[in-house]
Amino acid sequence: MQTPIQILKTKFGYESFRFNQEEIINTVLQKQDAFVLMPTGGGKSLCYQIPALIFDGLTVVISPLIALMKDQVDALRLNGIKAAYLNSSLDSQEVVDIYKQLNNNEIKLLYISPEKLLSNNQQFLVFLRELKISLFAIDEAHCISHWGHDFRPEYRMLASLKREFPNVPTVALTATADKLTRDDILNKLKLKEPNVFVSSFNRPNIHYSVEPKRKMYEQIISYLKKRRADSGIIYVLSRNSAEKLADKLKADGFSVKPYHAGLSDEKRKKHQELFIKDQVKIMVATIAFGMGINKSNVRFVIHADLPKNIESYYQETGRAGRDGLKSDAILYYSGGDVIKLKRFALVEDNPEQTRVMLHKLSQMSTLCESNACRRRAILNYFDEEAPEQCGNCDVCLTSREKFDGTIIAQKALSAVARLEGRYGLTYVVDFLRGSKSEKIRYSHKTLKTYGIGNDISKEEWYKYFKDLISFNYLKQVGSEYPLLALTEKSRDVLLGKEKVFLVKTAAKVEAGLEDMEYEHELFAELKIVRTNLAQKENVPAYIIFSDATLLELATYLPQTMEEVRKISGFGDIKLAKYGSIFLEKVLDYCTRHKLASKINEKVPKRERSTKR
Ligand code: ADP
Ligand code: ZN
Repeated sequence: MQTPIQILKTKFGYESFRFNQEEIINTVLQKQDAFVLMPTGGGKSLCYQIPALIFDGLTVVISPLIALMKDQVDALRLNGIKAAYLNSSLDSQEVVDIYKQLNNNEIKLLYISPEKLLSNNQQFLVFLRELKISLFAIDEAHCISHWGHDFRPEYRMLASLKREFPNVPTVALTATADKLTRDDILNKLKLKEPNVFVSSFNRPNIHYSVEPKRKMYEQIISYLKKRRADSGIIYVLSRNSAEKLADKLKADGFSVKPYHAGLSDEKRKKHQELFIKDQVKIMVATIAFGMGINKSNVRFVIHADLPKNIESYYQETGRAGRDGLKSDAILYYSGGDVIKLKRFALVEDNPEQTRVMLHKLSQMSTLCESNACRRRAILNYFDEEAPEQCGNCDVCLTSREKFDGTIIAQKALSAVARLEGRYGLTYVVDFLRGSKSEKIRYSHKTLKTYGIGNDISKEEWYKYFKDLISFNYLKQVGSEYPLLALTEKSRDVLLGKEKVFLVKTAAKVEAGLEDMEYEHELFAELKIVRTNLAQKENVPAYIIFSDATLLELATYLPQTMEEVRKISGFGDIKLAKYGSIFLEKVLDYCTRHKLASKINEKVPKRERSTKR
């Protein structure tokens, strides 16, 4: 029998547990009920998937969203795990097949919607009773509470599960719950002396910012232009504004679709699918969009209208960066939105709920108007302590000291000018720092600008370039492998007519993978390999491998299958199936560029700390 950590390594290809996954798994294995609060992307699924593989019976996962089920089942199957789902999207033959497999004990994890579970006078429960059920997992457990942001009446009936199966342990999981919702969930599910696990709600890789809602469209456009290769969601309040904004962006040449409850089921499904498969980059959506989205490479979430409370804001922005890579959450704020939303907060014949809703709205607007760290405001809202400053939100970053960086800017801009706008960031920085690498062309090594920036570290240069780009002194053109180019503003700086103020580099910014050097071109090539595999398997690309896995490959350049095994995301099955394809690509790239393995620089990622 394998232990949880062995399963984590061999089946899923990860090296260590995150948050309190291990404690949760142990609790479940001891057949105790558990309640798990963990942020989106934290890794809730493993908390029941690993026990499911250890128990000899069936684990039933109740999930409200059909799209999500298919995703999860596809992902499990790619790791060689027997999983299936039952919901209204299947035809009767498929259902019969699954019943047969269940009877033959051939399925370890069954995903099911609450409607299906409790349909036909609970006939399905009767069927389940014939099988050996080891565990119930109730995903998105906040759906049982009408204090939460996504109340679903079907969920209320889940209270009967505990009555029907008193001896089967139950684990309830959610990514959102303030104190009120949390207590409500525990109450309604009637869990038996549950162990409660609360992880930190901090999402360190998300950068939060609030901008005044002025000239919003121009601001959005200038942001999107810099991220043509990235996926993102823009949230708006109404169907009408979703349509309008999507049309406008489309006319301006962006890859975009609307999503809202006014579209036909078919259209919604189609648009969602396109987005998930990276065939459409931007989704302009109402809050109808997102719950069923497992897409891990959403790089930004923009709120063009104010969310109605901090839970929604947290939940919606939380759809960014599930893969742990840096992502943005940008909110455009206006007092007018608050007035508009007040009308929506009025719940007919329910002064108590109206009061709660209005209070939540005012907490949301306070977060936007205040000059305090946004992350701290969010975490405090969820009763969690947080340091005064996070260093990764607009407030913390803009209060940082600025200095006259004109000379630095001039060096950077003249390097770009010398290289005639034909190189990307990595190359320009190496060139500035006078890198001896063979990657730098010989003719470039004779230029006067070569090496003029060797007094500044690579990391600092990256930071300054980011600032220069965001202040429009430089721009990036092209998507997969963006090149640095001068802008209209560059000229005055080069001529000494304009001073440039840069933000002092912060001492403590958590080093993410992107701060490490990686081979941008290789990363882009690996993405293409992944896309091809995904099309062959007919699953979204991120189900094959997350961006984080590809980034590790492009960073550590493994040279043997044993080295590939050390890359996060390669479990036994995926290693056997895809290892050599990716290895070949990496080897080929390394030969062309005379690069060696850096696998020894890979240190286990520092795990995020847990609360309580
Ligand atoms: P949640 O349901 O909490 O939003 P998921 O269970 O979908 O999050 O996990 C998010 C991503 O993190 C998935 O790609 C998952 O495989 C990955 N993941 C989960 N646990 C770990 C771990 N211990 N190490 C590395 N990756 C993990
Ligand atoms: Zn902050």
